Amino acid sequence: MGRKIYKEAIVIRNEIKDSRKLKKPERENRNPYEMAKKQIDIVAKEMNLDVRITKYLKKVERSLIVSIPVVMDNGDLEVFEGFRVHHSTVRGPGKGGIRFSPDVCLDEVKALATWMTWKNSLLNLPLGGAKGGVCVDPRKLSLKELERLTRRYTAEIINVIGPDIDIPAPDVGTDKRIMAWIMDVYSMQKGRSIPGVVTGKPIEIGGSVGRESATGMGLYFVIDALYKKLNLELSNATIVVQGFGNVGGTFAQILFEKGATVLAVSDISGGLYSKDGLDINKLIKWRDQNRLLKDFTEEDYIFVHNDEFLTLDCDILVPAAIENQISLSNVDKINCEIVLEGANGPTTPEADEILKERGIIVVPDILANAGGVCVSYFEYIQDIHSYFWKLDRINSELESIMVNTFEEVYQLSIKRNVSLRTAAYIIAISRLARAIELRGIFP
Ligand code: NAD
Repeated sequence: MGRKIYKEAIVIRNEIKDSRKLKKPERENRNPYEMAKKQIDIVAKEMNLDVRITKYLKKVERSLIVSIPVVMDNGDLEVFEGFRVHHSTVRGPGKGGIRFSPDVCLDEVKALATWMTWKNSLLNLPLGGAKGGVCVDPRKLSLKELERLTRRYTAEIINVIGPDIDIPAPDVGTDKRIMAWIMDVYSMQKGRSIPGVVTGKPIEIGGSVGRESATGMGLYFVIDALYKKLNLELSNATIVVQGFGNVGGTFAQILFEKGATVLAVSDISGGLYSKDGLDINKLIKWRDQNRLLKDFTEEDYIFVHNDEFLTLDCDILVPAAIENQISLSNVDKINCEIVLEGANGPTTPEADEILKERGIIVVPDILANAGGVCVSYFEYIQDIHSYFWKLDRINSELESIMVNTFEEVYQLSIKRNVSLRTAAYIIAISRLARAIELRGIFP
């Protein structure tokens, strides 16, 4: 698929004209919360947002920092630091994942909570934005240590979570098993079973079918809708996916099964590349046995170091690992037509400007990866009603919300001659600003 087709087909890039004069900034702030605030400023200027609302949105409602003492298997005591942040509950209870990673810090959690507010507002879900995390490398813990850590973290944040307050879900380093422990601690404290306190749970205890695959599925619905606009065939696309976890792995598998060529995938250990495409099903089986991609030797795949991975030539580049992956340090070498943001905050605002200047379309995180929270919302509704849907219903309602939201964003981007990111932010922030206006500022 040639670059020329894009040049002719896409209208979204009209902004290029205005941005050509841009000089590459010398420095960028990689603090994710500073990034999130900068994104608000960019959009506030574009939409002439009331300065009072801008000021309001640049703060989080509440941040809780907790210490989590854990007796390790060898009898030692380790004390971990954990967080839960509510950015906004103006449009409904907080909603957002819990991350277990050695890089977790308060500012990262604040940024992730802020992005959840925009995502939920963009999808018009009756939810606010929240996020949590623990600064820990879960791979270094035994299963029992992980369980003790999760249970104590839940006990420490118990007063700020709940079906009417804030509903956590899995994120990097957490999964359905961890959600089950959180639900158990919460339910034990309340004296009854309360499945609606978390989403992304196992199906047997109130989880939803389709939740695990939802984010990857949502990415597929969005890229499919964009490809249709461009009159291109997704089955002819070449794809590179950074991050082979829930999001990246599911997306790679869906595209592989749709006949697209997944040229490369990576995890924390590095990436694998084949010019003829990888066998994603084989690699998923490998991953599910807790093995790293760097150790995969069953096929003659080329190993690619993480530093070079994002610069591989492809049609669609999917950063689906962590924040700050496309930055001033590598943006000039990005070699794709479309960046589909599977991760939250993978592109710095400065790099985003340069991608725009280079005519690379960016499908922003708050749209692209919103399938996860969408099905989390379905799970929450099912728990509250104690009535569970079939997979067909989940996937068709997910598709309808994702495709309609894409269409809304796409149309606004054309109407206002702005990028998909700016259009998505305008929709999300306008909806939230209206809610603030209607509710007023207490007292
Ligand atoms: P995960 O823990 O299942 O997978 C993360 C993957 O990224 C793993 O393969 C890991 O090895 C890899 N990785 C981590 N650091 C890396 C690095 N520096 N370079 C290359 N690979 C690296 O996590 P996930 O749930 O798939 O989440 C991935 C991203 O998607 C995160 O930004 C998360 O916030 C976002 N997200 C997740 C969901 C969801 O439903 N899980 C929903 C929306 C957004």
